Amino acid sequence: MNLSKLFKNKKTVYSFEIFPPKKDGAIDTVYDTIEALGDLNPDYISVTYGAGGGVRGNKTAELAQAIKSKLKIEPLAHLTCVNSTKEEVDSVLENLKAQNVNNILALRGDIVPDSKVPDDFRHASDLIKYIKKCGDFDIAAACYPEKHLEAKSLDEDIAYLKEKADLGVSHLISQLFFDNNNFYAFMDKIRQKGINTPVVAGIMPITSAAQIEKMVNMCGAKIPDCCRKMIEKYGDNPIAMRDAGIIYATNQIMDLVANGVDGIHIYTMNNPYVARKITLSIGSLLND
Ligand code: FAD
Repeated sequence: MNLSKLFKNKKTVYSFEIFPPKKDGAIDTVYDTIEALGDLNPDYISVTYGAGGGVRGNKTAELAQAIKSKLKIEPLAHLTCVNSTKEEVDSVLENLKAQNVNNILALRGDIVPDSKVPDDFRHASDLIKYIKKCGDFDIAAACYPEKHLEAKSLDEDIAYLKEKADLGVSHLISQLFFDNNNFYAFMDKIRQKGINTPVVAGIMPITSAAQIEKMVNMCGAKIPDCCRKMIEKYGDNPIAMRDAGIIYATNQIMDLVANGVDGIHIYTMNNPYVARKITLSIGSLLND
């Protein structure tokens, strides 16, 4: 099924993100994670692609296919382009087609410092155009409520986002954020600029102080005072920190749903316990 249909039929689309394990031998462990997440009946599960720049030995298509065939849940396969040649992208697309996976999150990917990148794709919009020529794929893209780290300003970033939206993507998935007010301000701005594509809010439950520091350094998400206080208070107590993070994410979601968000995408970090706790708390809100 093409994911664009979901946004026509559902008030709040609910989805998860997982990542393939980095070590080759660890692939089996992720199947347990997928099964546990499948029990929570999300509308779709997305699978990352070579996050961090490396694309060799990628397991994205294999996991996406398993989600579809074993769980009967729609997969969304991430695909990055900046570190790849057209031939490499062709080979991934052929593989996805063969596995019957037809939803793709088209991304630029991160540029690895000091590495020489091929010149075939510069931006996600190049990949979106390319995929559109290659077959019947439903394409989604990323957006950044607090702007992409490399963008000079939010306005500039939104101008480029409009290019992606105008190419006809099914939906946009947001970078993680901890302050809903920044998300609402972003939504107002993009709607004013004529971007009417559904936007799914990316929510990352904070499960440890170290994890959050790493993520914030990587993507530049702002930490509001109440969240910082929570980390100061519980950061040294792993169980309390995990539970506080679940409560924080749940409250964020409750507020987003009450404000009519198009969808919620949980960055599960392959942690079904956390996804389960959140899903059980918010299930009735999504169906209302
Ligand atoms: P783009 O849309 O190309 O934007 C990148 C930068 O270029 C922005 O600053 C933008 O303003 C600017 N820009 C865009 N178009 C133009 C243009 N035509 N001219 C000049 N400037 C332009 N990374 C992975 O490696 N694997 C993953 O699986 C993965 N999954 C992700 C999922 C989500 C939901 C998100 C939000 C990010 C994900 N990332 C992943 C990270 C992503 O690859 C990086 O954030 C990357 O730096 C930007 O990707 P993009 O698709 O948003 O790029």
